[in-house]
Amino acid sequence: MPNLIPFVNKYSVFIGTDTNNLIFVKTLHDIKFGYTDAKSKPAYLKWYEEQLSAVPDDIPPAITNIYEHLYQIPPSDSTDLSLADISDKDSIWDDQRYKTEQVGDIYGYNAEFETYAERMTDCSTFLAYGFGDFGLKLKNANFCRVRHCPVCQWRRSLLWKANMYVAYDEIKEKYPTHRWLFLTLTIKNCDITDLRETLKHMNDSWHKLVKRVKFLRGVEGWIKTTEVTKGKDGTAHPHFHVMLLVKPSYFAKNYIKQMEWSELWQSVLKVDYLPVVDVRAVKAKKKKGVEVYSVDDAIKSAIMETLKYSVKPADMIGDGTAASNEWFYELTRQCYKLRFVSSGGALKDALKCDDEITDDDLVNINQDDIESDTDDRRLVFTYKKPIHKYLYNPQFNQ
Ligand SMILES: [Zn+2]
Repeated sequence: MPNLIPFVNKYSVFIGTDTNNLIFVKTLHDIKFGYTDAKSKPAYLKWYEEQLSAVPDDIPPAITNIYEHLYQIPPSDSTDLSLADISDKDSIWDDQRYKTEQVGDIYGYNAEFETYAERMTDCSTFLAYGFGDFGLKLKNANFCRVRHCPVCQWRRSLLWKANMYVAYDEIKEKYPTHRWLFLTLTIKNCDITDLRETLKHMNDSWHKLVKRVKFLRGVEGWIKTTEVTKGKDGTAHPHFHVMLLVKPSYFAKNYIKQMEWSELWQSVLKVDYLPVVDVRAVKAKKKKGVEVYSVDDAIKSAIMETLKYSVKPADMIGDGTAASNEWFYELTRQCYKLRFVSSGGALKDALKCDDEITDDDLVNINQDDIESDTDDRRLVFTYKKPIHKYLYNPQFNQ
C-alpha cells in the first residue's frame, strides 16, 4: 500500500501517492488552500500536514479523493473543518443559515412568535452529504418550513427555478413559436397593517385581468409571484412578477402596448391613478449582429427574477430597532397562510404547490443529476451558531 501524500499547489488540491500518481481532487478558484504562512493556513491543511508525519500503517483501501479521506480518517475533535473550506459551491450555506439565525432571533424576542423561533433554531442544523470524485452532494437535511425562514425560502426558490427550467424545455417543444413576456404590476405603497387587504384586492384584480378578452387573445399561460418590499417610510410595497407565455399572434395583431397594460391593470384595480406597470419581451441580446445573450439566457434570468424570494431577508432583518422588528412581526401576521405563487393556462402545473413540497424536494433540487449519484455513506456537517458556520461533524456520519 503506498503512502498518501497530500499535494497542494496554487490552484488545485491533490492526494498523491509515493509513486507520484496524483489524483485530482478539487480545483480552487479562490486559492483557499494556497496559504504558505502557518497563521493563515486553514485548519484542514494543518490537519492534513499532521497526517503526513503520522500515516497509519493500515491505510484504508480505496481512498481516491479528499472526501473519501475525511470519511475514513476524520480529523481530530479539536480540528474545526468548515464546509466552506472544502466545498466552494456549498459555502453559500453559512450565509443563508446565518440569516435564518438572525430572523429566528427576531421572532424569539416576541412571545407571539416563539414557536417560529424554536422551529427555526432547529432548521437545517445538519447537512448530510454523499460524496465521490465529483465532490459533495446534499442527501439529507432538516427544514423548519417557517414561511419567512431564509434557508427554507432559498431552497423553495431553487426548487421552483428547477421546476420552471423543466417546464420551459417542455413548452419550447410544445409551442416552438411562442414567446415570453416579463410583466411587473405594482400598486401604490400601503400601510403594513393594510397589506393583507391590499394583496387580496390585487389578487382579485388579477383574476379579473386574466379573464379579459384582450388578455386571453394573446396569452397562453402565466406564472405569477408576489413580492413585498419595505418602503423607506415603513410602508409596504407589494407587487407582482409575472412571466407570460404569449401566442405568436401577440406580436402581430393582439399586441398590448405598455400604456394599455397600465390601463388594463388600472381598470381591474378600480383605482383613480395609473399604476406603474413594466412589460418587456424576453429576447436575445445582439451586439453588432453577434448574439451576446441568448433567448435561453434571457428566459433563465426572467425565471430567476420571478422566483427569487417573496420578502428579501434584509427587509426582514431590518436595522435591529424595535420599529423594524415590529414591521416584520406585522408582515408575518398580514401574510399568514397567503399563497405567493400561482400559475394558469398552459403553465398551470409548472410549479409544485407549497404544501406539497417535502424535505426531500428541498434537498434534491437537481433531480436529474444522475452523474453524481453516491453510495449510502454520509459526511455530516452541523451548524455552529457562535461562529455562524457549518463544521464537519464526523460523529454523525452514516
Ligand atoms: Zn427553515
